Amino acid sequence: MYLYVKARRGSPAPTYRSPWLLYPLFEDDLFGHDIVMDTWDSYFRPSSREEALFLIDRYGTRARIIAGGTDLILDLRSADAERPQAVVDITALPGVDRIVEEGDKIVIGAGATHGTIAVDPLVRRHGTSLSEASSVVGGPQVRNVATIGGNLAHALPAADGTTGLLVLETEVLVLGGDGGANGTWRPLHTLFAGAGTNTLDHNQFIGAIRFPKSGDNHGSAFDRIMRPQGVALPMLAAAAAISWDKASGTVDATAIAVGPAGPVPVRAVEAETFLSGKEPSETNLRETIRLVQDNSTFRTSAFRATREYRYEMVPVLLTRVIGRALARAGYGGFPRLGTEEDGDAED
Ligand SMILES: Cc1cc2nc3c(=O)[nH]c(=O)nc-3n(C[C@H](O)[C@H](O)[C@H](O)COP(=O)(O)OP(=O)(O)OC[C@H]3O[C@@H](n4cnc5c(N)ncnc54)[C@H](O)[C@@H]3O)c2cc1C
Repeated sequence: MYLYVKARRGSPAPTYRSPWLLYPLFEDDLFGHDIVMDTWDSYFRPSSREEALFLIDRYGTRARIIAGGTDLILDLRSADAERPQAVVDITALPGVDRIVEEGDKIVIGAGATHGTIAVDPLVRRHGTSLSEASSVVGGPQVRNVATIGGNLAHALPAADGTTGLLVLETEVLVLGGDGGANGTWRPLHTLFAGAGTNTLDHNQFIGAIRFPKSGDNHGSAFDRIMRPQGVALPMLAAAAAISWDKASGTVDATAIAVGPAGPVPVRAVEAETFLSGKEPSETNLRETIRLVQDNSTFRTSAFRATREYRYEMVPVLLTRVIGRALARAGYGGFPRLGTEEDGDAED
């Protein structure tokens, strides 16, 4: 069954702003003010993947998927936004918000909210970097509705959930197109085409994500630097996932991501390659950090941070996330880095 909400048009636009998350669904706000619903023509809430795919195929480029709406509604309210004919809400699809173990993987529905992910025991155990990232997205109101699928599909290089997932060997279940309602699993990095642009066709959407379960010698972590009154995204975020080989005393495998560090979310491959197979000594940590700094493309953003500030904060965040990931992987002696000037470089 579709839930169909007909738009009402013709009145002047109100200056009303809050609670904006629910605003487009109602014609009157809590105080009885008249609200104009001219954001779209039709709102659908399909109850099966097939119905959702039928709708986005039928409306083509005039359809938009909505989950929590925390990014989409703002996008649609911007001056140059194209008004969609159909908005297709995926939150009633069966299993779209579930978090389960399947064989050696953790599978998370695209409609799982950051609030759910942050406290889920499976994610905390096997995908700690994601659970730590989801726990700091927005405030409680945002986390209660904003989804991991929306975070990925929005394709911003600073998105916290995306940074947390990049280090977990994540795959994305893309529904529609040749994969139909069963979908096709793709590596996460293939989802990103540019800042705010994903590689999905208009007849596709994300159904779920999955990543391998974490062994006892494996750990991950996420951290970020945010303005106290920050505007949605961090000044800089970082995540690391590390396997520790106790027998040889070396790092077995490393995944590192910082964001925003380029037009698309990326891993710090040079740094990962360097650290893998080495002892986690202070010298090796300094070189790992230098490789991340020198191979990232930081830019100055009007609302968040300068390029230089982001560059200088890389050691702060990476020391934290690599140290925590190593501790979770069973290693106990990671060096605390001081600056060379203050001589505070000892363990
Ligand atoms: C006040 C505020 C604070 C915020 N703070 C943070 C923050 O700290 N960190 C952070 O990373 N983000 C933050 N955000 C951004 C936003 O909340 C997240 O990106 C969120 O995860 C988006 O999910 P959503 O379900 O609301 O997406 P929606 O707004 O529903 O959708 C976002 C985009 O993805 C598409 N989409 C949604 N689901 C799918 C799907 N399954 N398949 C394909 N396309 C899909 C939509 O068409 C739309 O283009 C904040 C936003 C607000 C308003």
